[in-house]
Amino acid sequence: MEAFHSQMTGHQGPFSLRMFHPSFSLMLLQANISCPCTVLDFPSLEQFIGEITATPYDIIGITAVLINAAKVRTLCRLIRKHRPEATILVGGHITALPRIETRIDADHFVTGEGLRWLQHFLGEPDRLPIRHPPMDFATDIRTMGMPVNMRIANIVTSVGCPVGCPFCTISAKFGGRGKRIDFFNSADELFETMLDHEKKSGVSLFHLMDDNFLLDRKVALRLLELMELHDKSWSLAVWSSAGAIKTYSADQLVRLGISVIWIGIEGKDAEYSKLQNIDTVGMVRELRSHGIIVIASAMLGMDHHSPDNMDQVIDYAVSHQADFLQFTLLNPLPGTEFYEDMKAGGMLLSPDGEGYMIPHRRLQFGHRHPNIPRNTESGYLTAGFLRDLQVNGPSVIRAVDTLLKGWKRYGHAPDRRVCRRHERLSEAFGSFLAGAVWAAREWYRSDPVQYPRTDTLYQDICREFGQPVCTNSPATGARILSCMKEEDESLRRGDRHDPPATRKERIPLISYTQAIQMFHDAVTEIRPELGITPEDLSANPRLDEIGLDSADRMSVLGSLEQRLGICFDMKQVAIAMDVDAVVSMLLSQEKTG
Ligand code: SF4
Repeated sequence: MEAFHSQMTGHQGPFSLRMFHPSFSLMLLQANISCPCTVLDFPSLEQFIGEITATPYDIIGITAVLINAAKVRTLCRLIRKHRPEATILVGGHITALPRIETRIDADHFVTGEGLRWLQHFLGEPDRLPIRHPPMDFATDIRTMGMPVNMRIANIVTSVGCPVGCPFCTISAKFGGRGKRIDFFNSADELFETMLDHEKKSGVSLFHLMDDNFLLDRKVALRLLELMELHDKSWSLAVWSSAGAIKTYSADQLVRLGISVIWIGIEGKDAEYSKLQNIDTVGMVRELRSHGIIVIASAMLGMDHHSPDNMDQVIDYAVSHQADFLQFTLLNPLPGTEFYEDMKAGGMLLSPDGEGYMIPHRRLQFGHRHPNIPRNTESGYLTAGFLRDLQVNGPSVIRAVDTLLKGWKRYGHAPDRRVCRRHERLSEAFGSFLAGAVWAAREWYRSDPVQYPRTDTLYQDICREFGQPVCTNSPATGARILSCMKEEDESLRRGDRHDPPATRKERIPLISYTQAIQMFHDAVTEIRPELGITPEDLSANPRLDEIGLDSADRMSVLGSLEQRLGICFDMKQVAIAMDVDAVVSMLLSQEKTG
């Protein structure tokens, strides 16, 4: 999946921001079940067939978004052919497809949250603390023909959004208005996971995958408290609604390390609660002035949009001057309120859902729009992206401008934590960003709009950072410019840039049943007189409730370590007060070698 290039910067030529996002949901599922599991991400058909024929899998699961429905149908047919005894599970947004069971040959369609569903399906308890394996938000990050040396940890904090906008598939899938499913019990747990990822991967930039992270002020402000307490100068990339952002001061956002924010600006006169009484143009300007990169999402195709006013609609979105601007069609996607409204009004083009089996449906309306003629809508999307580029310039250069604003404001801030975060930026300016702006200026040498803009930015960088940044940047810039030319040629040739296929196997040391049995054996060895049964333990009592004092607890844990030949993490040991917490530690152990 390549969200930025395919949904935002694809019209920006070599300036497009390229990166691939792994399938986070599959990685989470794999880490939270106690049977051996292999995740194949972006496999070719040959790799997929090779995998399922070589290994006698009992269960094969596929996750997909709606536009990949036809591909999933093909994969299921292949499974039936090459591994007919396997049970097929299909999850993800594709499950909203009307009458999916008649179109795709699978055994189970997982319509809501899949992690707890899968644990339940496998006969494992669906209440254990969720394990968050270290995962990168993106791989193979590139722009201007150059690799970008940046590592972003991805942590899934929750799914669903209680705001419940009528068109939103994310909200609809996880319960709709008023609902969200948290993957952490508290901000403290989230903080511990971030610490763990920092320790294991050396990251300081986190993408918190949450459809509306700032909506839960209690969690966000507690996280800020912990970051301050432990002197963490992390950078956070989050998604949040305008209404939620408005409840924070700029100072709070900056101290919380918010560095990138994805916000739905939707459109002028949009009557969604999250935008009520909010000047989104002013909000974006304000955020950028504090060094926060803004990704804004605008919608085309509201009822009042028409060929007569589409220029103004696009201009309004472009006037936000966000760093990245996404245009999407307001489309009735199955599962949403908007879809049901269109269906009830007889406005759907494919009421039986067959139309969703056509790839790239994202570029066309799925309903009869009151004003916009059919098959003209994708032209408006293109017009929007091109207008944004023409007026605001390439997104990555805008982002450099925002970073510079942040550096100027906070590079010497009295708050050392905030200052350190921006100091890291000064290194990026020295090593890459100044050269990138130099190259952009050369690229646009004969462009009367972009040249002065990039020249002003370049001069500003030189003034701010002085030597040796400004003496080194022409050499770096020349290298980047040459890569840009190659990239441009490659794009013009239509070269494909596919995500690398990955395969990751995870074999837990023991299963859930074995973990309970082993726990039982350890307790019985130390305190046989208690007469504890495996069934007692399965009910997850606190250890003191079943008669184990703190010395017994440590003896039991020591015995488990000996039996498995492992060492528990001392931090986890300190908080493992109930059976589930101990079992969870056991299940996190993997076979090596
Ligand atoms: S605020 Fe955003 S994530 Fe939440 S329901 Fe609306 S569109 Fe969906």
